[in-house]
Amino acid sequence: MPNAEAQLAMRDADARHHLHPFTDTQALNSKGVRTISHAQGIYVWDSEGNQLIDGMAGLWCVNLGYGRKELIDAAHQQMQVLPYYNTFFQSTHAPVTALAQAIAEITPGDLNRVFFANSGSEAIDTVIRMVRHYWTLKGKPYRKLLIARENAYHGSTLAGASLGGMAHMQSQCGPLLPGIHHIRQPYWYGDPNGISEDEFGLQRARELEEKILEVGPDNVAAFIGEPIQGAGGVIVPPRTYWPEIQRICRKYDVLLMADEVICGFGRTGQWFGSQTYGFQPDIMSMAKGLSSGYLPISAVAVGDRIADTLIAAGGEFTHGFTYSGHPVAAAVALENIRILRDERIIDAVAKDIGPYFQNRLREVLGEHPLCGHIEGIGLIAGLALVKDRQSRIFFDKDIGTLCRDECTASGLVARACGNRIVLSPPLVISRAEVDELVNRLREALDRTYARVAGMTGA
Ligand SMILES: *Cc1c(COP(=O)(O)O)cnc(C)c1O
Repeated sequence: MPNAEAQLAMRDADARHHLHPFTDTQALNSKGVRTISHAQGIYVWDSEGNQLIDGMAGLWCVNLGYGRKELIDAAHQQMQVLPYYNTFFQSTHAPVTALAQAIAEITPGDLNRVFFANSGSEAIDTVIRMVRHYWTLKGKPYRKLLIARENAYHGSTLAGASLGGMAHMQSQCGPLLPGIHHIRQPYWYGDPNGISEDEFGLQRARELEEKILEVGPDNVAAFIGEPIQGAGGVIVPPRTYWPEIQRICRKYDVLLMADEVICGFGRTGQWFGSQTYGFQPDIMSMAKGLSSGYLPISAVAVGDRIADTLIAAGGEFTHGFTYSGHPVAAAVALENIRILRDERIIDAVAKDIGPYFQNRLREVLGEHPLCGHIEGIGLIAGLALVKDRQSRIFFDKDIGTLCRDECTASGLVARACGNRIVLSPPLVISRAEVDELVNRLREALDRTYARVAGMTGA
């Protein structure tokens, strides 16, 4: 561990030179940044020697946990053989081809072709370009509108922020990309209007049909959604929602795009969230869990309908990145998929550790006075913090951040999304580790409760 003086020097240098993403730099610098020094399994350690359970798997990505030697070795070996080569000019290399084939095998339906990028945002940008190009090739250049949901997260490039439904992002980067419309999210608990979850799911899905009719069915290229909205606070849709969305898309010939950046690679107990929720996307973006976050890589899996059209038309698809299909990242992703498959990790998320995690959360925290509602499936969960459980009254103060800080103090990395606490631990977490995570969260909730109980106007 570096000594205290070196620590301070680093903090100081970070404050002077490093602009952090999604960060209030002024607030950060006055408080001082936390340095994460190393990690193993589900744990990370900070430079002060505190051990924390990483209840977020980094940023929803370290699905296999930290320190997996096979992933490290895959990168090391590939670095020695071929550290870089591009895939632009009629060339390929073994890891990217093998990875494309592996993704085609694990994705459902006819998602048989794969386009590579380096981040979720780039994958989203790729999807937008591809579907708009598709409709031009189909002789319907007027079909260019995209429909997404409020509070959705689709990355932070201009296209991602425009497509996403995060008002606080959009207000900083306008004018936004034109041709994008939003409908409301399927957040049943947050909208207490007395109807059943199933009915609510249908109602919210039908807002898609209303929107399509409003803007003109012939003008709509695609609808996009995360199977479970992640950064929006882990909004788990009612079971009725996605099948109805799919029915409406098919009825109006609107392409269905799934943003699987968080749900993909086992998070919900299937390879992809769209499988868990029973719909078949025409095109799908993935990133995060694709390499367990060990190296940046993302991909777009493209259904035959779109890919065959692109290919049959001839001519170049004028899009790509210097690092599309980077060999080292591809080698790591391939090994990541092999481990998920050979160790039957996703099966365990569906049948063992996922249900255990969901049950423990509900058993231990379900009746907590701050906890209004717990939703989740597999190893993803969101917990609504409320002032009044009976009448579903939320706090009008930022209790999420308060609780998040109490989690950190208890040795748990959790995340606050407004008035929701979200969790997404590594898929390899054990039962004993789940127990420990839930205990730490309960301590944090107790202390948060003690702090807000005395608050006025909360
Ligand atoms: C994180 C995320 C993205 C953006 O991925 P980056 O790699 O951060 O660009 C896009 N969509 C969803 C659903 C995400 O969670």
